[in-house]
Amino acid sequence: MIKLEALYSGKAKTVFKTDDPKKLIMEFRNSLTAFDGKKKSEAPKKGYYNAQISAKLFKLLEEKGIKTHFDSILSDTEMVVDSVEIVKIEVIVRNIAAGSLTKKYPFTTGQKLDPPILLFDYKSDEHGDPMINDDIALALRLATKEELSKIRKIALKINSILIGYLDTKNLLLPDFKLEFGRRGGEIVLADEISCDTCRFWDKTTGESLDKDVFRFDKGDLVAAYREVAKRIVPEIF
Ligand code: UDP
Repeated sequence: MIKLEALYSGKAKTVFKTDDPKKLIMEFRNSLTAFDGKKKSEAPKKGYYNAQISAKLFKLLEEKGIKTHFDSILSDTEMVVDSVEIVKIEVIVRNIAAGSLTKKYPFTTGQKLDPPILLFDYKSDEHGDPMINDDIALALRLATKEELSKIRKIALKINSILIGYLDTKNLLLPDFKLEFGRRGGEIVLADEISCDTCRFWDKTTGESLDKDVFRFDKGDLVAAYREVAKRIVPEIF
């Protein structure tokens, strides 16, 4: 497979075309942003840990019957993925109250959310990723009613698979973000699942092992990401 020009460069990943029109190469970079890009930094090996964690979790989900865009790992920081049409909705799943949820609503940090809360944000930097409901998604033609219902069902299934798996690694999953794409007629999981897109808390200490370390200057970000990688992909150490 030949890597061609960059198709898109986001805040932490760059997507490249390849000589196969059905495949793309996704590169995980060391750059970091938070608060709509207002806070920026670089962290050595962040791209490596996130790529390896994401690949492992996508493989796990595939084994459990979830269709994803993941094809293979190409290098330390790159993976081959199917080219899909991204649904412009960020799907947020929340199991434990944290972050803005405790500011906007009377939840306390650490409070268990039962049943889990599923939220949709409109994926648009220009509009600041506002929260939307089904009616807005339908009116904006972001997805069909059937697609929204499929996305909800798949997101909840992914949530229960990840909660069970991470529990065996002594990790809690307070919340995370998913993105979906269209491949032919089907909805598949796309993007990444990593320390940049999930809150991971150590089950024993409650310590943050994710991007909150960067957002709120809680300590050594690379050490936190390395710790998650050690638990999820011990084979790379
Ligand atoms: N998230 C993400 N990208 C986004 C928005 C959210 O990866 O553009 C993840 C984030 O890392 C967290 C979860 O989704 O794990 C909830 O984030 P949100 O911004 O909704 O809430 P907050 O961080 O304000 O609590």
